This record gives sequence, C-alpha cells and structure tokens, in this order.
Amino acid sequence: MKREGLLYIVSAPSGAGKTSLCKEVVDILPNLRHSVSHTTRTARPGEIHGVDYFFVSPGEFLRMVDAGEFAEWAHVHGNMYGTAIKTLEEFRHDGVDVILDIDCQGALKLKERFGCGVYIFILPPDLQELRRRLNQRNSETPETIERRLEAATDEIRESRWYDYIIVNVLFQQAADELKSVLLAEHCRTGRVLKAVSEIFDIQ
Ligand code: 5GP
Repeated sequence: MKREGLLYIVSAPSGAGKTSLCKEVVDILPNLRHSVSHTTRTARPGEIHGVDYFFVSPGEFLRMVDAGEFAEWAHVHGNMYGTAIKTLEEFRHDGVDVILDIDCQGALKLKERFGCGVYIFILPPDLQELRRRLNQRNSETPETIERRLEAATDEIRESRWYDYIIVNVLFQQAADELKSVLLAEHCRTGRVLKAVSEIFDIQ
C-alpha cells in the first residue's frame, strides 16, 4: 500500500531532550529523515555543518529570508533559525517522513501556512530538572542558561495547541512514546481510506 510522507514537527524548551529524542527515532525508523535547519548561531563543539545545522552568516540568512527561501524562520534565543523550503522538498517525496526540530513560533507558522503536519511537544518533568539538564550540557554560558530558562515557561504554554505531549522523564520511555506516535499517525483512517477503497473496491 503506497503511503504519503508525513511531516512531524517537534518542539520543546531547550534542555528537554528533544534533539536526542529526534536522533533516536531517526536511527530506529528507516523511513524517517531529519530536516537540517539553517542558523546564525555558532557551532558547538562536535557539531557538523550540513549534519546538525547549516551554519550561515546573518547576511546570508537575511538574503534567504528576502528571497523567500524559508518555509518558516524565527528569532530564537538571540539567533535566527529557519527551515529551507528546498530542504523539505528534497525529502518529501517517495513516502519519506521528515522530522523537524523547531521552536514554537516556527511550528505555528508552518501550521498556519501549510495546515498539515503532526505537532509533538516534549516536556521536561519540571523546571528544576530542566535547569539541571542545561547545567549538565557544559556548552552554555550561565547567561544563556538563564535566558533559556526564562523562555521555557512561555514555550511550555504553547504546548496546548500541539497534537501530542510527551513528558521526557526516562529517555527510553519517551523515545518509545515518540516512536509510537510517529508510527500510529500512518494508521489514521483518513490517511489510508483512499488506498483501502481502491484495493477492496468499496465506495
Ligand atoms: P539550539 O541552538 O539549542 O540547537 O536550538 C535552539 C532552538 O531553536 C530549539 O528550540 C530548536 O528547536 C530551534 N530551532 C532549530 N532549528 C529551527 C528552525 O529551523 N526553525 C525554528 N523556528 N526553530 C528552530
């Protein structure tokens, strides 16, 4: 049965474990690809251009904005981040699923602009644990951590309009829940009914 490629949009406050969860499901599910965003932030140790992000200058980013090359973009924590239309188009053929790890502003823009996609919000167990995880990263300055924690409450408020909320208490359990959501979405009646009608010749 031919299946359409789905767009999964995953948001979370910084430190909730979203990036690791997205990587985990991309490793497990052969039909799933990760959309690589463009950003003006500098690469953290170990991050690779074209794999984690396309790291571009503010000038290049704004050129892409003016040229209408982004499906969505936003200012997040003092930097600009965006999903290039080209990146989505490269993936969304032949039934390939795409997972986007983007902030709430960008997610809302995608929802309003395209009206499609499955929206998933990852929560930390509580704010204390979020602080602990951000401190543990060792890649953030104290100012960055405070800025990200301040933003967290506003971001968590946005979870109400997402399709799913996953609380990341234990990583493996959260990964299993995310995987279940991604797989279950393909079984929605609305997505398979047309093919079923054709195969079984029912109206
Ligand atoms: P980080 O700098 O920690 O990698 O990401 C900071 C925030 O930017 C995260 O919430 C991440 O989801 C978001 N982000 C990453 N890529 C994009 C993007 O293409 N568009 C938007 N709107 N947000 C993004």
